[in-house]
Amino acid sequence: MSKGQAEIKTFFRSRLLAWYKHHGRLLPWRETTDPYRIWISEIMLQQTRVDTVIPYYKRFLKRFPDVFALARAPLQDVLKTWENLGYYSRARHLHAAAGIIVGRFGGRIPDTPEDIRTLPGIGDYTAGAILSIAYGRAVPAVDGNVRRILSRVFAIDRPVNDPRGQKHFFELAASLVPGKRASDFNQALMDLGATICRAKNPDCGVCPLASICLARRGGLQNDLPVSRKSPAIPHRQAVAAVVRNGKGLLLVVQRQAEGLLASLWKLPGGFVQDDENREAGLRRCVKEELGLSIRVGKKIASADHAYTHFRVTLHVYQGFPLSGKPTARGCQDWRWAAAADLKKLPLSRIDRMAVALVEISPVRFP
Ligand code: SF4
Repeated sequence: MSKGQAEIKTFFRSRLLAWYKHHGRLLPWRETTDPYRIWISEIMLQQTRVDTVIPYYKRFLKRFPDVFALARAPLQDVLKTWENLGYYSRARHLHAAAGIIVGRFGGRIPDTPEDIRTLPGIGDYTAGAILSIAYGRAVPAVDGNVRRILSRVFAIDRPVNDPRGQKHFFELAASLVPGKRASDFNQALMDLGATICRAKNPDCGVCPLASICLARRGGLQNDLPVSRKSPAIPHRQAVAAVVRNGKGLLLVVQRQAEGLLASLWKLPGGFVQDDENREAGLRRCVKEELGLSIRVGKKIASADHAYTHFRVTLHVYQGFPLSGKPTARGCQDWRWAAAADLKKLPLSRIDRMAVALVEISPVRFP
């Protein structure tokens, strides 16, 4: 490294840390040094905005105040507490990791990169964030925000979303993390990316790094970072049936333990295949899931939702059983549920919307 580069890196660190001292955000997980709480916050913050996370974080810790309480709890309780926060694999991973932390690490969140990376749900970024914030280890925590800042300050036009580009940004970040105050440094980068060096229209006029930022000097703020084009996101069609028994109870099923939205509850149904219409798809899905033949009635409504890798439109129909009794064939479990039961079961956002639609479906199973 040349003398000039070393000076720029020293300046980067000192300006960022000085800025953070006065402008760092006050967040609930910054009021603690408890590694358990920091771990929970970092998992919740994956793919989710700070404002959304705060109430979930508080509620989760009230319900599961330490790793032992989390490890002891049934998965269904954890999923229920997580309901509507999305990316439910995070909740399942937290629950599984809590069991490992209690069983293998005596209840202490691991403090080395090797050990912490053995836990489900912990990648490079989350490992770096927990190790630096909870234990002060001088390791980087590099996410999209950090890559954006580094790409701009150092005018790096390597794609931020390909493995070679990401390796480059990780190594650069590792060379910047100070031996002391790694926690403040990583959190300062998070805050700078969230509040000033935003994806669109960065607020360079108040940025602590403005005097060394090459993107600012060259007017490239809105051209960096560079991303490799992602393929178009597919749009899938899904169907669900509103089936009631003679008492007016609603038929609901629990998803399989693996796969999309695993172990959450929903109306019977599934994805439509390319070569079938929606009614045929719904009959097939209910048969595969529950061994039940149904006649498909009127469409009640539809709802849209976007996941990371695809978008879905869920079409909800009335369903009338023709033959067979519900049996858990392609699901973990099923039940006839009253409105009060539905409130207690964990459902994904789109399934909760679909269930809300049943209020307008008075159709009964004769
Ligand atoms: S000067 Fe502007 S582009 Fe450069 S790091 Fe600061 S906010 Fe980002």
